[in-house]
Amino acid sequence: MTTWEPVIGLEVHVQLATKSKIFSGAATRFGAAPNAQACAVDLGLPGTLPVLNADAVRMAIMFGLAVDAQINLNSVFERKNYFYPDLPKGYQISQFAIPIVGMGTLHIPGQDGKPLAVRITRAHLEEDAGKSVHDVLPGLSGIDLNRAGTPLLEVVSEPDLRNAADAATYFRTLWSLVRSLGICDGQLQEGSMRCDANVSVRPVGASEFGVRTEIKNINSFRFVERAINYEIERQIDVLERGGSIQRETRLYDAERNETRTMRLKEDSEDYRYFPDPDLLPLSLDAAYIEAVRDAMPELPAARAARYERTHAIAAGIATALAEDPDVAAYFEAACVPGAEPKVVANWIVNDLAGRLNSESRAIAASPVTPQALGTLAARIADATLSSKTAKTVFDRLWSEGGDVDAIIDAAGLRQLDDREALAVLVRDIVDANPNQVAQYQAADKDKRKKLKGFFVGQIMKRTEGKANPKTVDELLIGALEAP
Ligand code: ADP
Ligand code: MG
Repeated sequence: MTTWEPVIGLEVHVQLATKSKIFSGAATRFGAAPNAQACAVDLGLPGTLPVLNADAVRMAIMFGLAVDAQINLNSVFERKNYFYPDLPKGYQISQFAIPIVGMGTLHIPGQDGKPLAVRITRAHLEEDAGKSVHDVLPGLSGIDLNRAGTPLLEVVSEPDLRNAADAATYFRTLWSLVRSLGICDGQLQEGSMRCDANVSVRPVGASEFGVRTEIKNINSFRFVERAINYEIERQIDVLERGGSIQRETRLYDAERNETRTMRLKEDSEDYRYFPDPDLLPLSLDAAYIEAVRDAMPELPAARAARYERTHAIAAGIATALAEDPDVAAYFEAACVPGAEPKVVANWIVNDLAGRLNSESRAIAASPVTPQALGTLAARIADATLSSKTAKTVFDRLWSEGGDVDAIIDAAGLRQLDDREALAVLVRDIVDANPNQVAQYQAADKDKRKKLKGFFVGQIMKRTEGKANPKTVDELLIGALEAP
């Protein structure tokens, strides 16, 4: 039996977060009424001329620098010619022979636990097309051209990926990167990032790649992984029955978890690319690129390393915080004086993330503010709260908001850490249970630990769970082990 090796390359369309379109002044805001944001230039009406948006260029350069890519000082816009109802011009302005960003590398954590360097072939600027709308007008299709002319950066990877999980991680790492750079809002459900997955399989050990198919327009990390896995299985199945794979474009149907033929693949010759006579070649000077480099924000990997280094936060947690700039901003705002960053980090990735997830809320709209979570952590650090009472305060903050200290006082949650008062209580409990004390003193080390739990339980009962467990433990050991 043959064992098969999948080969995967991704093409990701990143919608750049410019205020206006790539060749016109029309707005790019999401959710406007159909055709309210398409101007004469976007439609390619006679007498109009495209003018390149400098901000789109700056963003493409930022991306290139972030993946250590070659930035081409001279690049060319070309016309990609095809007919489609949502493309009134009859061509899309894109870059073909010479893109703005050349070969680079994106580093991702591989599924096998090792770092994986995925080569980026190129990233080029282009305009988006409009959208056909089939589900609004009964019996009719509508055309919404608001998206026509929206700036896209198409990021093409080399066929370096070997499994679907790594492909999903690559997509997610790109998402994190472009959000951290501030060049894309990363709203997958609004189409701000769309991924085409090229998939082939070959017998393990073969030197040539197999014939590939391309799955179009996948817009979630989960679907990328599922669609590729489905496609790998399908191709293996076809090949093992003696069939062959057709070079084609397929669509992923998330509801049925399957891919379907959409069209046979066109070759680039079919598009009759040629330099757009309306646009000059894009010519950049090296000083401008250096100016963009100087203004680069901290990137997720560097940020995660900083969290590990300065706060001794575990790598996995540091990555989770740094991956999303909104989460990173929340974390940094929550590290108020008195709060331990490590404790803050744990609360964010566990309790807060869990709650946000279950209610599908973004962290920027968290009902618990970073300042409140930071104060909560500070009250754990100064022993006002135990881990149990802290959860109660967190629940209150989530449902009602308010001030941490006010909640602690109103609910009488202040932890008992008065050593003298606790010592009296410990003495009381020890004196009231002579049998357990005798058992304890006769027991070995392991058993003692368990028997001590009995006394802790009694003390917590008397203090309604508010005694500082560390102090109680110290006092108990003193009382039980004294002669
Ligand atoms: P096209 O012109 O059809 O877009 P490209 O050569 O630009 O083709 O490749 C597009 C994508 O397909 C790239 O991401 C590349 O890594 C990937 N790719 C190329 N060959 C294969 C293959 N045999 N199997 C899987 N992916 C591939
Ligand atoms: Mg392609």
